[in-house]
Amino acid sequence: MKFLDFVKVAPNGRVLFSKNIRKTHQLESKQVELSLEGSMIHMQIAQGNITEHLRTINYQGRLSIPISFRKKINWEYQDYIEMYKGVNGFYLRGNKNICIFCDRTGLEMTPVYGKYICDHCLQTALGKKYLMQPF
Ligand SMILES: [Zn+2]
Repeated sequence: MKFLDFVKVAPNGRVLFSKNIRKTHQLESKQVELSLEGSMIHMQIAQGNITEHLRTINYQGRLSIPISFRKKINWEYQDYIEMYKGVNGFYLRGNKNICIFCDRTGLEMTPVYGKYICDHCLQTALGKKYLMQPF
C-alpha cells in the first residue's frame, strides 16, 4: 500500500478529502463502496453493484462513515486518518491506538506530535537513550 495523505475527521462522523486528493484520484462527487477490514476502512469506486455501505463523496469532499464502522474504529472529530492506495482501491486507517513503530494495537499508547507510541517501543527508545548517556 502506498501512503497518499492524511484526511481529517469532520463533525458528525465524516471524513474530509482535500481538493488535491479528490482531483488526483478522481474522487470528485464519486459513489464509493465501503467495507471494514480490521481497523481500516476499504473504499473503492462503486461499480453498479448495490451494497449496504454505498456512500457519496460530496462536492465539498465530505464522506459520511457508517455508524456501525464508527463504533468499531473509534475515530473522533479532528483526528487525522491515514489514506493509502492499494491494488483495488483506497484504505483509510486511523493512527490512534496503532503504534507508529511496531503497528501493534490494544496497548497503552503515548501520543507524540499526533502519532502514538506503545509502551514497549517507548521503553526501548528510553532504554537506548539512557544507555547512550555518559556518566
Ligand atoms: Zn510499538
